[in-house]
Amino acid sequence: GAADTLARDPAAPAESHLFYQAHGTRPFIDRAEGIWMYGQDGKSYMDAASGAMVCNIGHSNPRVIAAMKEQLDRCTFAYRLQFQSEASEGLAAEIARLMPAGLDKVFFVSGGSEAVETCLKFARQWAIAVGQGSRYKVISRFPSYHGCTLGALAVTGYTPLSAPFDPMMRAMPKITTPRQYLDGRGEDPDAYGRRMADLLEEEILRQGPETVLAFIMEPVGGASTGAVVAPDTYYPRIREICDKYGVLLIYDEVMTGVGRTGRFLAAEHWGITPDLVAMSKGFAAGYAPLGAMIAPGRMVRQVLDAGGFAHGHTYAGNPIACAAGRAVVREIVEQDLSTNAACMGERQMAGLQALMAEFPFVGDVRGKGLLQAMELVADKETLAVLPKELNAASRLVDLAYERGLIIYFRRTRGGAEGDHVMITPPLTITPAEVDEMLDRLRGALRALHKEIAGRY
Ligand code: PMP
Repeated sequence: GAADTLARDPAAPAESHLFYQAHGTRPFIDRAEGIWMYGQDGKSYMDAASGAMVCNIGHSNPRVIAAMKEQLDRCTFAYRLQFQSEASEGLAAEIARLMPAGLDKVFFVSGGSEAVETCLKFARQWAIAVGQGSRYKVISRFPSYHGCTLGALAVTGYTPLSAPFDPMMRAMPKITTPRQYLDGRGEDPDAYGRRMADLLEEEILRQGPETVLAFIMEPVGGASTGAVVAPDTYYPRIREICDKYGVLLIYDEVMTGVGRTGRFLAAEHWGITPDLVAMSKGFAAGYAPLGAMIAPGRMVRQVLDAGGFAHGHTYAGNPIACAAGRAVVREIVEQDLSTNAACMGERQMAGLQALMAEFPFVGDVRGKGLLQAMELVADKETLAVLPKELNAASRLVDLAYERGLIIYFRRTRGGAEGDHVMITPPLTITPAEVDEMLDRLRGALRALHKEIAGRY
């Protein structure tokens, strides 16, 4: 148990002075390599969550570590207003090369929430710069996740995290996220996609187009919906509506970016060019805290000409983080890990579908590339949620842990109810590792089946 782990660990202080959720119930980490993490409890764990969908190229990649060490020896910090750095210039140039045409300016930050905040503030400053200062509302979706800082939280549709802070934020309008498995069953997917996209037009008209600044969306849902993908018709229709009303389209690719869904950006699946893109997570793949906003040079020039971008964090463009990001992106491109994510994603999805057929409480499996989720339900037909007190997804995570498998759970459907787990291994995963991961997951599902059978 957890107490044993702590007691056996020479590094464990008598009382921890950290306070994260679930703290104290997990082993201390010793080291990690590739898809494997080794605890000080002497056990090995297969990382099928990539941490929190972060470690996209696996752990201890020697080329990334070498690039970081080289930077460490040269200079660990250079403030962006005092020096340029090869690391940040080189990474920005590489990103500009990989982005859809026109998205060629990069503003570095240290994480996903910061990247989203930067997009929101840049959008607002651009509107002011071009004489559209009446625009300030950012429409987003429910459910969604865009970060936990107050600005990013205002556009996040996930009540357990946002509710306490409602009085401190300006409420932003939300439209329903398309989830055909829940609310469009039996409907033609193309028609459903268009109908759900049209909700944006209705909301823009309701708010008054002259007040609407932007629309922000995750191209493939992250943990808040559990890897939900919209029908193909949704994406171009959203782009069209934004264009029609002069509303900026912001893609939050914090989780989907850098190869996770089988393309460098998820936007590429639909040939969409967003106006602004937020990236983080897989960008430096857990080797350093790094995020970015990517914007078109045309818009950046307008903001700079109007007096500059009133925004910036001390650690922006940190040379070590950028050296890590540059080496990570090189790995993604040179090893063609987006393609591997697409291929291994298919293998994994076939396995998850087999598990869905095997277990009565696995109600849906979905996703794109290696961004996939499994939803646990009380009834496969109605998709009714399991009783909250069973804590099914959380229990599945614990049972997987006991079998040396790390997966990631969240309440689903935007509120406190519902259960899903994310299955999001590193993009470097091999076919044999996919199979072993699925075996371990089957073991955990069998144990859960024993535990909850007859209780719902
Ligand atoms: N946007 C999305 C889509 C995310 O998945 C996350 C993190 N889960 C964030 C933003 C926030 O990123 P961070 O936790 O690095 O602040």
